[in-house]
Amino acid sequence: MRFLPIFLDVQRGVVLLAGAGDPARAKLRLLVSAGARVRWYAVGGKHDLSGLRADEASRVELAAGDPLIAELSGVVAIVCAGAGDIGPAMSARANAAGLPINVMDDLDHSTFIFPAVVDRGDVVVAVGTGGASPVVARRVRERIEALLPERIGELASFIGRWRKTIHDLIPDFALRRRFWERVVDGPVGELVLAGRADEAESALKNVGDASAFIGRLQSGEAAGSVTLVGAGPGDPDLLTVKALRALQDADVVFYDELVNPDILGRARRDAERVAVGRRVGKPGMGQDAVNRLLIEAARAGKRAVRLKGGDPFIFGRGGEEVEALRQAKVAYSVIPGITAGIGAAAQFEVPLTFRHQALRVTFLTAHKASDAEMVDWSTLTDVAMTIVVYMGMMAAPSVRKGLLAAGRSPKTPVGVFARATRSDAAAATGTLDELPELVEKVAGGPAILIIGDVVAHAMPARRQQLTQLASLFQVAAE
Ligand code: SAH
Repeated sequence: MRFLPIFLDVQRGVVLLAGAGDPARAKLRLLVSAGARVRWYAVGGKHDLSGLRADEASRVELAAGDPLIAELSGVVAIVCAGAGDIGPAMSARANAAGLPINVMDDLDHSTFIFPAVVDRGDVVVAVGTGGASPVVARRVRERIEALLPERIGELASFIGRWRKTIHDLIPDFALRRRFWERVVDGPVGELVLAGRADEAESALKNVGDASAFIGRLQSGEAAGSVTLVGAGPGDPDLLTVKALRALQDADVVFYDELVNPDILGRARRDAERVAVGRRVGKPGMGQDAVNRLLIEAARAGKRAVRLKGGDPFIFGRGGEEVEALRQAKVAYSVIPGITAGIGAAAQFEVPLTFRHQALRVTFLTAHKASDAEMVDWSTLTDVAMTIVVYMGMMAAPSVRKGLLAAGRSPKTPVGVFARATRSDAAAATGTLDELPELVEKVAGGPAILIIGDVVAHAMPARRQQLTQLASLFQVAAE
């Protein structure tokens, strides 16, 4: 670390800005957005306040003359941006006066540098690269921005407002810290983050006389929770921002074997990881045992994540887990994921609906031939319906038989999409008549079957890549 990040209160004095053009204006915007009063010497150019709000512009003093001989009393920092070659001389003045100085693109004459900033009100994140690469700093900032809840600044302000009251109410430091952790991680924090600060406010008001609450804190009685998280079909970048956040908060992750190891890798590094899912052909832990593990973890005060492939509520047995958690009175929430059918459709460009062609979509499962026999195929004969079959590889012959018997045309386009959105994804397309052979072609699951006229629009992965590369280099695709 070459530069120590510190946060400077620029509202206490004046920032002297020397320079003109876009570089100076960018610094001006940043400084006034932090509430600074700025004395601006437009060295080598003109003053230009366009783009500033009236209250911001009113804090800018348009100075004339030479900044090198300007009065420095009341100045808290000096910034040179787009100021030609006066940087070194300004730097010498700043050093003599003991003031921090930044000369743009000149580390040798700067005693501070500007980080890339994530600005969420009271919560501010500064990203620096020691001046080496602003572009890298900006990319890091974007990632952090995506991770932080939108209202994290409001949460900080909310706590700020209650600090004194709670301090008086819970004098014990360790207890108070536990209290705040509970607020930030629990339902009160969730209310604030959801934009319902009023309700959070009344929740904390009740704490005022709730000595029972403090008693519970003291006795160490913990309240954990379970979050059912949809991990999506495989590509870790298809996790939702919320899913990622839950993974990074988790004390323990109970995962299905279907979940891509790269996704599990996004969990907090020291989170415990427990495999609970079953796989085709291999016996796994029964659902009751999984439910018990989830409840036990929450009761032990842990933040448990139940990580499932795709979406928890699409053939993921999330419904059963929720029932069990409700019965056990354990706090839980559900975070949706991109289900395999949707992931495959996007990757292989199968529009599941299409104007005048496909007006409905059905998700169904046909794990075993016996499941396939339970399906009433006569309800699936509408040619304007796209059918997405989960766990249908083994039962492909029964699926074909059922649909043909119900009267769907043997020429109906179908696709088998295996390991969709993973690096080893594969697809085979053809007609309903050929369905079992297509399943053979993709060399292993998991795979989704999609049946319906829309499959005719599909584009196999290889050709897709070629088209994309071709357009990237402006070459004809054919
Ligand atoms: N809850 C999951 C489905 C679990 S059932 C979801 O919403 O996606 C398991 C079935 O999902 C597999 O048999 C297969 O049909 C399908 N599946 C899961 N991941 C897949 C993938 N990456 N590509 C194709 N199919 C997949």
